[in-house]
Amino acid sequence: MISDGLLVERMGPIARLSHARPEQRNAQSAAFLDALDRALGEAVEDPEVRVIVLAGKGDHFSAGHDLRDEETMRHQTTPEVRYAFESVRYRDYCLRLWDAPKPVIAQVQGACVAAGFMVANMCDLIVASEDAFFADPVVGAVAIAGVEVLVHPWVMGLRQAKEFLYAGGRVTAAEALAMGMVNRVVPRAELEATTMALAARIAAASPFALRLMKRSLNRTAEIQGFRAALDAHFDTHQLSHMGSDAQAHLSGDLGKAIGTMKAQIA
Ligand code: ZN
Repeated sequence: MISDGLLVERMGPIARLSHARPEQRNAQSAAFLDALDRALGEAVEDPEVRVIVLAGKGDHFSAGHDLRDEETMRHQTTPEVRYAFESVRYRDYCLRLWDAPKPVIAQVQGACVAAGFMVANMCDLIVASEDAFFADPVVGAVAIAGVEVLVHPWVMGLRQAKEFLYAGGRVTAAEALAMGMVNRVVPRAELEATTMALAARIAAASPFALRLMKRSLNRTAEIQGFRAALDAHFDTHQLSHMGSDAQAHLSGDLGKAIGTMKAQIA
């Protein structure tokens, strides 16, 4: 059953959580993010679930935050209101994917943009189809310092992240594979089967060993400052919302901003 744009499926030891608003390119509303976080919590609590897959129905993984969602835009007022909203929905929810004590695999096709990029990259592994592409047009399109969770330099390398965030444009699946940002690239028709086979293979391992392995691997990044850097960027991102250019975009035409966003991705 699809609820708040989220489809939850169980296939043996695998729980698959899918963005399910393909006609909106799986843009993430506040209600969707709440539902995803709840479903993630349930999958984590369920002892029968060993691996979690995060996917998107239709042609695209996700185009990012839904700028037409009233609940999302209602919080774009004062710094206090925005900070509270984005702390929970964007930073905390992302870190719950990172901290989930079970492996999480992102299955990515088509657009994986801005907040879609942020969420996919908080997962442990990414399996992409050949048509997948990654983009973060936020700096160029709406004058904000990227998305809330700056996972980019950790998954693409500092040099690539700088070009990606300063200049916009897109990174193809093949380029993402070369950067080490995704684990596998397969034809679109094989995406689901490849992801499920990988999930099933991982699900055969000891849940406790996997849990501790993930903890150690994530701690390797955290010892290098991953979590502190994410927290620092979250605050800097909030400051950037108050920039005069960003404020002009916010009070301007939404359709135009979305158009600029699309041009930046092209
Ligand atoms: Zn923000």
